[in-house]
Amino acid sequence: MYTSTRDNSVRVTAAQAIANGISKDGGLFVPTEIPTLTLDEIKELSALDYQGRAVKVLGKYLSDFTHEELVDCVSGAYGGGKFSSEKIAPVVKVDGSAYIQELWHGPTCAFKDMALQILPHLLTRAAKKTVGDKQIVILVATSGDTGKAALEGFKDVPNTKILVFYPSDGVSVMQKLQMVTQEGENVGVCAIKGNFDDAQSGVKAIFTDPDVAKLLDDNGMQFSSANSINWGRLAPQIVYYVSAYCDLVEQGAIKLGDKINVAVPTGNFGNILAAYYAKQMGLPVDKLICASNANNVLTDFLGNGVYDRNRSFYTTISPSMDILISSNLERLLYILSGGDDKKTAGYMAELSKNGKYTVDADILAKIKADFCAGCCDDEQTKTTIGEVYKEKNYLCDTHTAVAVKVYNEYRAATGDETATVIASTASPFKFTASVLSAVDASLVKGEEYEMAKALADATGVECPVQLCGLEDRAVRFSTVIEKSEMQAAVYNMLGI
Ligand SMILES: *Cc1c(COP(=O)(O)O)cnc(C)c1O
Repeated sequence: MYTSTRDNSVRVTAAQAIANGISKDGGLFVPTEIPTLTLDEIKELSALDYQGRAVKVLGKYLSDFTHEELVDCVSGAYGGGKFSSEKIAPVVKVDGSAYIQELWHGPTCAFKDMALQILPHLLTRAAKKTVGDKQIVILVATSGDTGKAALEGFKDVPNTKILVFYPSDGVSVMQKLQMVTQEGENVGVCAIKGNFDDAQSGVKAIFTDPDVAKLLDDNGMQFSSANSINWGRLAPQIVYYVSAYCDLVEQGAIKLGDKINVAVPTGNFGNILAAYYAKQMGLPVDKLICASNANNVLTDFLGNGVYDRNRSFYTTISPSMDILISSNLERLLYILSGGDDKKTAGYMAELSKNGKYTVDADILAKIKADFCAGCCDDEQTKTTIGEVYKEKNYLCDTHTAVAVKVYNEYRAATGDETATVIASTASPFKFTASVLSAVDASLVKGEEYEMAKALADATGVECPVQLCGLEDRAVRFSTVIEKSEMQAAVYNMLGI
């Protein structure tokens, strides 16, 4: 069963947690008990492929789904050649104790696919268990990666519709191309004149408007959410950390039972929280290394226990980590406070009122036992991309480079040579201009596809077809609306 981080009296099934997204009290759903994973089980999982591992790990959390349902969900997400690597999330040795796990072989070339490919399958089954045969309507406001990954995930999924709003001048060239050429009969994409916050506030307002809900209900529809606090996005992320460990055992890089470290480029704290859950289950993990860009609110917090969002916001070359409120941190606070709903709710109330809270000394001590944190700026990010490419012959994107840099600093400072899995969250071709300038600044010129070609030519790394194939795709969605017209756009798309 699941409860809320802000009210321990809540009891819902996994299906309800996924269908509802967020608890009515504003808290996040968390399992009342974290299931265990023994070394014997890890040994068994090592012999399975990614899908086999996913069914087993997800089954521990989604116990109200049948085995057949989970097999269907997993094969719908990770089967059928949707990922360009057979291993789904392959682990590549970079040097010494550093291993990179590539989480971007899915349809949109960012790690969001790992969860958003399976979420629609989980969500439609969860909805069937909880609200019957209503059509599920997903609204997304995006600053780039999430919108495209959600579109690909929900594309042509029966009984669902998805509409994505993005700020017309607020996404990268490649990200915009990915969205406006989106295929599928149940999808809609709309640009708004405004910034990401406008898009997000607009979606929130529509989502919580009782009149809109009533009209949808009259038409046999219901809103649901695909954002990163949904348990249906977190659970699938636990799987790939278990899978990375199994791969290292299989490759002989570690022995069963040896500890590993994990380094994660972090924004909303979702990805690294999944690694924390894996550790709590019993996966032998020592340090969780949390890497941030110039928006280093988490570096400070994990170091001194003070979360303070009252600081400048920086637009960086790793935009998916440009976040000052890391929503998933609430789940960690709940666990570390021993499941204290009042205390967790109190911290969150302080955050929304003053933009700041300080955790108790015992919570900080627990944080320090598991986590290390570091950050780097854009210059250091680019230098790292250049060095890793020239010295290790590995090309990484701007987000991954932040984690590599922070890990290298950790390793130098501590002398810790424990095998470490660095989460690689995007293909370098999603952020071509920045990566190209790190490899050879003289090549940065011309249109997006010319630069992608230059990057491929200079490095011998192929541009994923999911990105370069877009050049020939027809633009399907060119509507740009005022932010006041979002509700009308939703009705129009739904035909109500
Ligand atoms: C979303 C994203 C991140 C941040 O992940 P969180 O789960 O929010 O910490 C990092 N890198 C890329 C490329 C992303 O799209």
